[in-house]
Amino acid sequence: MNGDIKEDIRSLSLTDLEKFFADQNEKTFRANQVYEWFWKKSCRSINDMTNLSKPVRKILEDHFSFPVLHIEKEYISRDRTVKSTFRLHDRLMIEGVLIPDGNRTTACISSQVGCQLGCTFCATGLFGFKRNLAFTEIFDQVVELTNQSLHHFNVPLSNIVLMGMGEPLLNYEEVKRAILMITSEDGLGMSPQRITLSTVGIPNMIRKLADDHLRIHLAISLHTADNVKRSIIVPLNKKYPLEELRDALKYYHEKTGKRFTLEYLMFANMNDSLSDAHNLAEFCKSFPVKINLIGYNQVPDLDFKRPESGKIIAFKEFLEKKNMIVNIRKSRGEDIEAACGQLALKDRNQREG
Ligand code: SF4
Repeated sequence: MNGDIKEDIRSLSLTDLEKFFADQNEKTFRANQVYEWFWKKSCRSINDMTNLSKPVRKILEDHFSFPVLHIEKEYISRDRTVKSTFRLHDRLMIEGVLIPDGNRTTACISSQVGCQLGCTFCATGLFGFKRNLAFTEIFDQVVELTNQSLHHFNVPLSNIVLMGMGEPLLNYEEVKRAILMITSEDGLGMSPQRITLSTVGIPNMIRKLADDHLRIHLAISLHTADNVKRSIIVPLNKKYPLEELRDALKYYHEKTGKRFTLEYLMFANMNDSLSDAHNLAEFCKSFPVKINLIGYNQVPDLDFKRPESGKIIAFKEFLEKKNMIVNIRKSRGEDIEAACGQLALKDRNQREG
C-alpha cells in the first residue's frame, strides 16, 4: 500500500497473494480461490467471491482496491455492430466494438486512452493521448464484450483484435500480460490464434514480439509502401522508415514462421493507383503476407476520401496477378462511427472524464 491509495488487488501474482494470506495468518489456499475468481470467473468485486468468508473478504477490502471498467453507453449499428464506451476508474473513457459475422463475433479492443502517434487520417489521433491502459483494463474489455456477445448474439466471443484506440506496442508489457491472462488455462483459456495485434509498425517491438512467442496473429497498418506518402499519413514513419519495418518483419517471419497481415486503408488519389500497388508488391517480396484492402471510413474534420470501388478492385486484381492473397474488407458499424480509424469518443465530456 502507498499512503491512502490502496493497491489494485488484481496486480498481485498468485505468489504475492499466497504471501499476503500467510502474513495475515490465513490459509494460503485462499490465494488460489481468489486468483480463480479474478481470471477464470471474471468476478467484478471482492464481494462476488462467495466461497470466501465475510471476514476474509473484509481483510481484502481493507487492504486493496478492485477497479473495474463499466459500459457507459452502447450504440447499435444497422449492420448489428455494437460500439461501447467504457468508463474507467479515473473517469476517462475508451471505446470497444463487437462485430457479429454469422455465428462468430469479434471484439475490437483498445490498448491506450487515446494515442500519441497522430496518424493524420485517424479520429483517435485527433483525440490525443491520455494514458496507457492497465492489463486489467484490457482484460475487462474482453470480459464485457464476451457478456455482450452472449447477450446480443447468444454466442461466446470468437476473436479479439487489438485495433481499437492506441498503439499496442507502445504499451507492450500491459498488453502482453492481458494476452497471457486471456489465453491462460488459469484465465479465459482462449486460443492465441484467435487474437490479432495490430500495429503501425515499431521495428524493435516487432522483434520483441517475435522473441516472446506469444503465438498471436500480427497485423501491420501499412497503408502505403512509399516512404514520402507514409510519412504524411503515419508520422512515425519518419522515425522508422519502411526499410527498417521490412527488416523487422523479415525477422518476425524467420523467427515465428508465421504469415502476417498488412492492412491497407485506401484513400482516393493518395495510395490507390496501380503504381502504389506495384510498390506494395515490391515491399512484400521478402515474406508471405495477406493483404486486407479497406476503403477509408470518412471522419468528420478530416479531408481524406474513399476511392471508388472500381479503383479498389483494380488494385486487388493487380496484386492477385502477382499471386498475392488479397481481401477487400467490408467496413462495419460506419453509421455509429465504429469502423476502422473512427474511434474517438464523440462527446467532449466523454473525452475529458
Ligand atoms: S491509426 Fe492507430 S497508431 Fe495511428 S493515431 Fe490512430 S490509433 Fe494511433
